[in-house]
Amino acid sequence: MQEIILCKLGEVVLKGLNRRSFEMKLMSNIRRRTQRFGKFKVYSRQSTIYVEPMGACDVTGAYEACKQIFGIIAIARALPCEKNVMTIFRTARTYLGDAMRQARSFKVESKRADKTFPLGSIQLSQQVGGLLNEAFPHVKVDVHHPELTVYIEIREDAAYVHGPAESAAGGLPIGMGGQAVSLLSGGIDSPVASYMMAKRGVQLEMIHFASPPYTSRMAREKVLQLARELTPWCGRLTVYIIPFTEIQEEIRRNCPEDHFTLIMRRFMMRLADRLAKELHCKALVTGECLGQVASQTMQALRVSEDVTDLPVLRPLIGMDKEEIVRLARHIGTFDTSILPYEDCCTVFTPRHPKTKPVVEEVREMEQALDIEGLTARAMAAREMVKVKL
Ligand code: ATP
Ligand code: MG
Repeated sequence: MQEIILCKLGEVVLKGLNRRSFEMKLMSNIRRRTQRFGKFKVYSRQSTIYVEPMGACDVTGAYEACKQIFGIIAIARALPCEKNVMTIFRTARTYLGDAMRQARSFKVESKRADKTFPLGSIQLSQQVGGLLNEAFPHVKVDVHHPELTVYIEIREDAAYVHGPAESAAGGLPIGMGGQAVSLLSGGIDSPVASYMMAKRGVQLEMIHFASPPYTSRMAREKVLQLARELTPWCGRLTVYIIPFTEIQEEIRRNCPEDHFTLIMRRFMMRLADRLAKELHCKALVTGECLGQVASQTMQALRVSEDVTDLPVLRPLIGMDKEEIVRLARHIGTFDTSILPYEDCCTVFTPRHPKTKPVVEEVREMEQALDIEGLTARAMAAREMVKVKL
């Protein structure tokens, strides 16, 4: 018989009456993300979702994919077998043989969903435990603090044997947290910020500002690559690429140099706000972090969010760079993020950027610009790229 995948639900189970809709969302996310590994039947029983191969499937591929699906807190592979003590014992002996050889102590824990099975769960655990103890005499039984727990589940169709579950992605199923527009640069931070909001169940739309010819084709490819690397966590993504050259050149021509970056960031927020409203998204996401650069002081954040009435979610706000880098490595975006291509933020950077801007003054400086025309032209010339794994 083929192995199946057991997914344990995390916080999802705490959601009271919403629980069913969380489960349904999670199951549909699992179906979509596992379909490229073969045909699987996905169903739930008692805060576990079962992912069962129907015919030839790449179970390892599906298992690895499930580890990146938010809403699953722990995951295990289990082997089904016939429902009798000897077969269950033999299955455990071979399937969990390596783990048994490495452990110093173990116990067997049984669950019996099929009440017609002749043994109670305690009797079953004792019998299989006794047989395993004879087969691996150096491993002692310890029902309180075992190094290894062998799990047996008796269900209608079969018995299932598995070892301890591995921890998985956690969080909430994507789609349960609403929709937001995430500002994706080519840096280290914004992919991590996107990951963190996706983990809270937010479905993301990506926006990127490009300033050709100041930013290259390679810089654009890098951002699309980052989006692609996020898809195992976030699901398929659409990246809206907005031409930003005219805006930056106009700012340089008309505004004081020490305010270049701030005014540019206000345009990013305006454009993201427009896109969000078109797509019915309810928030913006950025990779900003307090004090990291001149445009990320409290005063500067106030100035940049002044142009939108949507909540600006900044999940990295209180994190150290090292923590962000560790997460970037964990999610798999770090190596791409450090490729040396210019972002539009690094062209026209002021020598002495303003760190304590005043919002009224900045509004005044922007009077020199045709804000409406610039944003409308940038939005009209946008490009849309869909990425998937
Ligand atoms: P990152 O590593 O994410 O680039 P950063 O520390 O370099 O962040 P900034 O360059 O000031 O900081 O950008 C702050 C945030 O603004 C980014 O995290 C991102 O959300 C957004 N942002 C910056 N540049 C762009 C861009 N070219 N396109 C889209 N969003 C951007
Ligand atoms: Mg940057």
